[in-house]
Amino acid sequence: MCGIVGVVGTPHASLEALQALMVLQHRGQDAAGILSHELSTHRFHLHKQHGLITQAIPEQVVSRFQGEVAIGHNRYATVAVKGDRSTRDLQPQFVNFPDGIGMAHNGNLPDAPRLKDELGTNHRRVLLSENDVEVLLNWVALGLEQNDGADSFTRLARSVRQTMEKADGGYAVVGIWGGQGLFAFRDPHGLRPLVLGRRIDGAGESWMLASESSALMFTGYTPVRDVAPGELLFIRPGHAPQTVILREEKKAHCFFEWIYFSSAESSMNGHGVHNVRLALGERLARKTRKLKSEGMLDVDVVVPVPDTSRPAAIAMAEGMGLPYRELLIKNRYIQRSFILPSQAEREIAVHQKLTPVREALVGKKVLLVDDSIVRGTTSRRLISLLKEAGAKSVVLVSTCPPITNPCYFGIDFPNKEELVSARLSPEALALELGAERVIFQTHEDLQETLKGTPLCTGCLTGVYPHDITAAAERFRARRDNARSTHENL
Ligand code: AMP
Repeated sequence: MCGIVGVVGTPHASLEALQALMVLQHRGQDAAGILSHELSTHRFHLHKQHGLITQAIPEQVVSRFQGEVAIGHNRYATVAVKGDRSTRDLQPQFVNFPDGIGMAHNGNLPDAPRLKDELGTNHRRVLLSENDVEVLLNWVALGLEQNDGADSFTRLARSVRQTMEKADGGYAVVGIWGGQGLFAFRDPHGLRPLVLGRRIDGAGESWMLASESSALMFTGYTPVRDVAPGELLFIRPGHAPQTVILREEKKAHCFFEWIYFSSAESSMNGHGVHNVRLALGERLARKTRKLKSEGMLDVDVVVPVPDTSRPAAIAMAEGMGLPYRELLIKNRYIQRSFILPSQAEREIAVHQKLTPVREALVGKKVLLVDDSIVRGTTSRRLISLLKEAGAKSVVLVSTCPPITNPCYFGIDFPNKEELVSARLSPEALALELGAERVIFQTHEDLQETLKGTPLCTGCLTGVYPHDITAAAERFRARRDNARSTHENL
């Protein structure tokens, strides 16, 4: 997972990109980067570094970045070596020919190694990083080179179409084409999100593309619409945006954006994230209310795992007529535990990140609400923390159905063997986690909540929007290799 942004038409493009990245920080905390471009002088400015935005991109650096076009990236490393401190794999990535092209993306190409080999063998292109966007970037650059002579938009459209035909995967991309302007495209399934915003002020008209609408609103842009699956947008300052749908396939938006990744104030495909999370809680409450009335569930307080599950927990408390209490207090200066590379580090981080409110927990029968259970690390630790603090019992509710399969399109779920729901039934899972019971959202209720939006539910069902059998093996080997390299550091 990552956050991306593209800005065009304002003299403050790089500073606005920086602000947008701050609002998208939750999408990736490993590293960040900004590339800006001065159309008149054809100069590019690039800065990328590890760390949170404020460490990675000092404002004084970016404030010197001239140019009316900029792109930015927040990194959440999925397949790269997590202990690597070089900037080689960070985004945006850049190639100098033709005209200078820079790109940043959010997503994953399961088949990146094969596409990279083909670039080397057939087209003598040498890639320097392990990053998938460098593969996309080189395919687009190759297309521009091969389609020289056509007008700019046709040239770009042909290049991106060829790239889409090659590259199966989940990706949302923003890019700068030297001397031209900003472009953006989204994979034909629409797996990863991308929204378009517009602003008109004294300085004229400017445009922003971002992973989430929260970034648009924060920087004063009005959300216009989602970029369509398979669509290319090309925006040059002073010209109306040009757009074309390059490839149509079965639409499959990643449901996990609503469950966990996106910020509550964002909205995708007409579904506000906050409202979806509330609705997921309401649906769960119908089930738990019934169980309670039948004497099958004994709980007296609803406690969220902050932050993502709050709306669902509130809806559950309301639906069940129970008090809602924040009894796990988050230490906001501890990194998100899932993102830490080793299991030992994750266990420690979960322990440090949340502290129970002892005096309010003694003797309580807690209904604990979390957004998802992946390896079970968070839940196991939290249930034992709650019980050590005096809770009499803990029933765990997950707003996400059981995750039983890996994701190949940009969510960093582990291999199947590490996914706790792939191994255990809810009953066995409750025993393993030390809970009285574990209750999951049903697949049907998830689909109903996001009605009208075709979803990718590959991690729940093992059925992906396209056949990934061959690429999956290569993807898995690549990720295992990156992980073991880190564990050995
Ligand atoms: P786990 O502890 O492995 O069961 O992971 C579940 C917890 O991590 C939940 O509390 C989620 O909020 C969070 N989470 C789930 N999926 C991800 C992900 N892909 N990246 C980061 N955090 C996640």
